[in-house]
Amino acid sequence: MQIPNVLQFTWSWSRLPSRRTEIELIELQKMLIDYSFIHSESDSWSCNLQPNGLFSVENLTHQIDGKLQCKQSGMNKTMSNKLLPQKICIFVWRVMLRRIPVRVELDKCGIDLDSLRCSVCNDNIETVEHILIDYAFAKDLWERVSRWWNSSIPIHSSLEERFKGIRGNVNPNLTNTSSVFRQAIEWVCGYVIWQNRNHVIIRKKKGNGPLALMEIQTRSFEWLSSRSKKVKIYWNQWLLNPSYFGDLGWHQRYFSSID
Ligand SMILES: [Zn+2]
Repeated sequence: MQIPNVLQFTWSWSRLPSRRTEIELIELQKMLIDYSFIHSESDSWSCNLQPNGLFSVENLTHQIDGKLQCKQSGMNKTMSNKLLPQKICIFVWRVMLRRIPVRVELDKCGIDLDSLRCSVCNDNIETVEHILIDYAFAKDLWERVSRWWNSSIPIHSSLEERFKGIRGNVNPNLTNTSSVFRQAIEWVCGYVIWQNRNHVIIRKKKGNGPLALMEIQTRSFEWLSSRSKKVKIYWNQWLLNPSYFGDLGWHQRYFSSID
């Protein structure tokens, strides 16, 4: 029975909506329940995304894809740091594109999840930013890395700046070699945080900050010492002050160029 002046929807689904989508739909309908057209005879709904005024999911998908491509147009190339193996560079590139399987991103792909809250701490929505920067273990590890590098954590406003901004850091004391070294360590840190998150979920293994820092130190030493042609890295010194080697690279280049 149609109730006059009360908005009613008749759905014809080609595929049944998921449980969460259904809840969202009910919420949307509640928002419209008291709405009525002033001139019910002549007024109608119109979608202003298309000239014909008709709404279609296909068109909406094109519109969203178009916007995303604009946003990511500068991100088509894989990011690289020559001191690190490809798998780390690809990981960081995927992070920049938000293509690691955190709950928010899985949800965007249409995967039905019971909750979007963080699978580790349940304190927040599980975004890439939350896992790699904000959640307690990640925060603690970034601080440990900064203390090891003997500097305070730069105030970053975004994930992009955390992983990309170091080379463009305004600190005049940050030499190019030093910044490449530092960036390499930050990328390894992000990779270790992500692996730790997966271990917590899959193996139910709680994160250990000191052990995770040791893993960053060991892995970065292994990769940087074998790939850095200009600077010889010594393990004991590496543990004490990794920034020394970054600066050393700059000094060596500087003094050889004025000889
Ligand atoms: Zn969390």
